[in-house]
Amino acid sequence: MPRPIHAVIHTQALRHNMDIMRTRAADAKLWAVVKANAYGHGIERVFDAFRAADGFALLDLQEAERVRALGWRGPIVLLEGVFELRDLELCSRLGIWHAVHCDAQIDMLAAHKTHVPHRVFLKLNGGMNRLGFKPQSYRAAWSRLNALPQVEEISLMMHFSDADGAPGIAQQLAVFEAATEGLPGERSICNSAATLRFAASDAQARQDWVRAGIALYGSSPNYPSATVQDWNLLPTMSLRSAIIGVQHLQPGDTVGYGSRFVADSPMTIGVVACGYADGYPRICDTGTPVLVDGVRTRTIGRVSMDMLAVDLTAAKAQGKPADFGSEVTLWGQASASHGFTVLPIDEVAAHAQTLGYELMCAVAPRVTMQTQD
Ligand SMILES: *Cc1c(COP(=O)(O)O)cnc(C)c1O
Repeated sequence: MPRPIHAVIHTQALRHNMDIMRTRAADAKLWAVVKANAYGHGIERVFDAFRAADGFALLDLQEAERVRALGWRGPIVLLEGVFELRDLELCSRLGIWHAVHCDAQIDMLAAHKTHVPHRVFLKLNGGMNRLGFKPQSYRAAWSRLNALPQVEEISLMMHFSDADGAPGIAQQLAVFEAATEGLPGERSICNSAATLRFAASDAQARQDWVRAGIALYGSSPNYPSATVQDWNLLPTMSLRSAIIGVQHLQPGDTVGYGSRFVADSPMTIGVVACGYADGYPRICDTGTPVLVDGVRTRTIGRVSMDMLAVDLTAAKAQGKPADFGSEVTLWGQASASHGFTVLPIDEVAAHAQTLGYELMCAVAPRVTMQTQD
């Protein structure tokens, strides 16, 4: 039998979150962002649930090929555009749209021999200073693209730097409006945070296409200001394992490497088959929330490569003694027999000083994944 650790991908939850984002984005079209192998879920595992999207947004041509191989004939867009001239041939062949964010990419288009003119998303750098043309050079880039026979249609895009935080989107939205005023073409500016917080009530922010990533995967883009419950989103990935050892401690006994945890009273701990080599963050120290048989408890001591320890004292006191084989949910939802109790990935991420994004993308290849309805 393999180690009991596995990740469950919840198809119904993916569908539910898609419905929520569709409703929130009202009349806009929706890109399902499936970069990073669908935020660690696996493109093939999320595809059916996300068919309800208007298109798939991703970074890698190989990922685009996988979406086409699944039979998707609708829009696909490369959010970072192409990396070399050869990539454009595949875009022509597979009908893939792509961002254009710098002069080098326009040069490549100009040198590209094709009978299939491309649809491109011209990217504005609205102040994030990652990718895109500055407002003062945006129109010149648009004109250059517009003059190319290789280009059929130009859409306009931008990415917010603070849609999840206090600054919000007003200032960069104004930059976008000014830079694109009078230009024809569809527009796309909102990620999950901007869609949930602003676009739901503001058509000017919503524009033609929203780009939903993290919300589709059941993590709140602006935790802890809002939780997944606040947004009515459901966990789509559950990292589950089992207890493979039990220890009874006396006051003064220690747990794990570095003897970082010292028991101050008699207690029972469970040893779980999950460690940092499975993608569970080592930085999570004593006190990170975890579910044992659906009952919420905490981790104890250091996370090691293949194991971590959890406190079973409370479960025992409640008359639910956990033992070898008991189910442990590191994040997501407990199984049906344990009432589907939810432990949002955002809570675990907060203890790891990171975001749900990073945890779901970092699940290690040795963790088997299975889908469940
Ligand atoms: C990743 C990404 C998104 C999706 O962001 P979420 O915060 O996951 O919704 C949208 N737009 C671009 C350009 C991205 O790179």
